[in-house]
Amino acid sequence: MNEPTPPSTPPSLPGPLPAPASPALPDIRDQDRAALATAFAAWNEPSYRLDQLLRWLHFQRAGSWDEMKNLPKALRERLATAYSLGSLSLARVQGSGDSTRKFLWRLADGAFVESVLIPANPALYGERADRHTLCISTQVGCAYGCRFCASGLDGWKRNLLPWEIAGQVLAVERWHAARPKSSAPPASDGTGDDDDRLVNNIVVMGMGEPLANYKNLIAALRTLNAPWGGGIGARKITVSTSGVVPGIRQFADEPEQFRLAISLHGATDAVRAQIMPINRKYPLEQLAAACEHYVGRKGKMITLEYILIAGVNDDASQTVPLASLARRLHAKVNLIPYNKVDGLPWERPSDNRCEAFAAALESLECTATLRLEKGHDIDAACGQLRLKTERELSG
Ligand code: SAH
Ligand code: SF4
Repeated sequence: MNEPTPPSTPPSLPGPLPAPASPALPDIRDQDRAALATAFAAWNEPSYRLDQLLRWLHFQRAGSWDEMKNLPKALRERLATAYSLGSLSLARVQGSGDSTRKFLWRLADGAFVESVLIPANPALYGERADRHTLCISTQVGCAYGCRFCASGLDGWKRNLLPWEIAGQVLAVERWHAARPKSSAPPASDGTGDDDDRLVNNIVVMGMGEPLANYKNLIAALRTLNAPWGGGIGARKITVSTSGVVPGIRQFADEPEQFRLAISLHGATDAVRAQIMPINRKYPLEQLAAACEHYVGRKGKMITLEYILIAGVNDDASQTVPLASLARRLHAKVNLIPYNKVDGLPWERPSDNRCEAFAAALESLECTATLRLEKGHDIDAACGQLRLKTERELSG
């Protein structure tokens, strides 16, 4: 994710590892309603018990079976023998007040992933100010090796399970519910009511390439979207891809109206291939055709994300092909000045240069937005906090 982060609060040192879930048991949050209904029917449990369980899992964000007080003990014990109940453990949080916050989660196997919570900007999105976007990760590391990105610097470690992807929302809301509130007494146990639901928009722009973890991604998005789960509208969920063409086509054919963003970052094959190795496998024409398929199936506008990197992709050679691709796809362009990554040589262009690039696109009748944020720090882009923490722990 490319959101700048404000000055960070001192990080809390990563605590002890959470107890590893039994590897033999599937996580209960990876069961959809239909699967659990089958189990409950086999156990002769009434369906209202299933509703109570789903509420504990996806609404009250239960971290243990014992919390599920209104379920009979025998049922809880039965569930515990059939399923594990995992949760993400908070290792670090950066940011303060109403600003962007970055969370580093430690998984049961000791791996780290990040999520970024971004308060709604009413002026920008026309949203209520109390609503938030959460940027979530889908893999530990990334195999795609885009030259400018921290997430791929140490390669790919593993795919996240569906519950680990969707669970980032639960974990952030649990953190939110447990915080002291100015106008109301603090929630004592982190379980909550409607007021504690703060995420209403999801962007899958964290660590990893979502379409390279396709099955788990879709399962997670369905949980987040389901009325018995996260209850977040499909139109409020955007998946960003570096351009995995077969995945884009498959995604277009899903029944839900999930949104799509493409990490373009170069409007000619020569420039794009230089910074994104995936362009050698799926060059721009193939990518454009897959995007057309998506737009044709969904009737939804896509976003082309374009990081501006000084001296690489920020000159006039890119504006004409970029505008023409955007017009062809009826896409809007989101210009993002590069966030510097420690150890990488790339720089963000000056504000003037970014503005000139945006103005050139507008003059070519291409809809482009540019946000020039101040105060970005070196951990801003997703992947950097995890990388830094892993290096600290191993060094
Ligand atoms: N793998 C997916 C989603 C994760 S990356 C993808 O590539 O789309 C999410 C976005 O953050 C991408 O557009 C990516 O190019 C961008 N990004 C990565 N590193 C960045 C940096 N240092 N500054 C700004 N944006 C960055
Ligand atoms: Fe992976 Fe996306 Fe980063 Fe490329 S930009 S390395 S695909 S996370």
